[in-house]
Amino acid sequence: MHVSSKVNSLAFSGTMQISGKAKELKAQGVNVIDLSVGEPDFPTPQRVKDAAVKAIADNQTKYTMAAGIVPLREAVGAWFKQSYGLDYAANEIIISNGAKHSLYNTLQTIIEVGEEVIIPAPYWVTYPALVEIVDGVPITVETTKEEGFKLTPEKFKAAITPKTRALILCNPSNPTGSVYTKAELEEIAEIVLENDLYVISDEIYSKLVYDDFEYTSFPTLSDEIKKKTILIDGVSKSYSMTGWRIGFTAADKELISGMGKLQSQMTSNASTISQYAALEAITGPQDDVEEMRKTFNERRIYLRDALNLIDGVEAGDAKGAFYLFPNVSSVFGKSYGDTKINGSFDLSMYLIAEAQVATVPGSVFGAEGFLRIAYATSMENLQEGVKRIEEALAKLS
Ligand code: PMP
Ligand code: GLU
Repeated sequence: MHVSSKVNSLAFSGTMQISGKAKELKAQGVNVIDLSVGEPDFPTPQRVKDAAVKAIADNQTKYTMAAGIVPLREAVGAWFKQSYGLDYAANEIIISNGAKHSLYNTLQTIIEVGEEVIIPAPYWVTYPALVEIVDGVPITVETTKEEGFKLTPEKFKAAITPKTRALILCNPSNPTGSVYTKAELEEIAEIVLENDLYVISDEIYSKLVYDDFEYTSFPTLSDEIKKKTILIDGVSKSYSMTGWRIGFTAADKELISGMGKLQSQMTSNASTISQYAALEAITGPQDDVEEMRKTFNERRIYLRDALNLIDGVEAGDAKGAFYLFPNVSSVFGKSYGDTKINGSFDLSMYLIAEAQVATVPGSVFGAEGFLRIAYATSMENLQEGVKRIEEALAKLS
């Protein structure tokens, strides 16, 4: 069977691949500690599940408008207003099949063939792949641990060409957990306006920030910048609803209408039942979100401190999402038996084979020398995972 060269050249999502491998090993009865997956371990809140059951009982099981039910679009607008003081009307919001799909629809709607999209590295695996799928050109810009893995104005300016159309900003960041300050975002915004670019601001982890960090949502910077921003969010991470597949995009109504047209041809509406569940998620009592955030924070502090104590691991700190991105390059070049660790991929494979701990190599995110470790699992699993990593690294010489 013929598979197109475009699909042939795509890599399978590295994060999905490794978490899939961990799930497969678990199914075979292997006691794997899965620190790879970007998915909260909490069950979806009961009130959300109840709303979905009610939607089924009420026969809310048919197609909806392609862009999503109006009550949900209005509620997303109210949620952005309440969270950040942003004003978006229902016709400036579209509901898609997860934020991954929101990102795809956005790129398909704004990018002409050959246009460039700037992506700071380390980046979430899916960004460059989506840009390629829509025949754009991903331009990755390396950021360093010393820069807090954040795009500097100098590096941003240097990456802009006449073909640049957009910047994808992931704030808080997957995979590093970094969060931009308001001042840092203002510097980026200035360059965006000077060069007439779009910013796709992926803020799916924005409800997960710690240490009283004052979070700034990109479109709040000014009315001018709001017009240039495509804001991506959703319920997967903050409401533990990864499997429900609901993502939000908020932007100028012309763009949203274009995305609605695309969606009407490609997927129709996102699952009707899930839309009702998402409506309850964002409009009901928000105590569960705060409970989950607090638990993530306890795990973050434990993992950061425990990893920093391991020889050869430099975890640093991160104030957002549920990831740490430790530097592990000091073990590169070492061996255990026949296994030589030449880079983060080898190390990740070694940790699965030798310690049954799943992590994601930094190379998957365009950053060699690091591992992504998710703390979206229980404290017991984290403690066991840290112990196993420490023992496995101690065997290397
Ligand atoms: N953006 C980022 C940065 C993510 O980590 C994820 C996680 N998969 C998504 C978007 C997409 O989330 P979903 O499709 O589950 O809504
Ligand atoms: N975003 C999560 C992660 O990075 C889920 C997997 C994916 O969609 O890539 O692990």
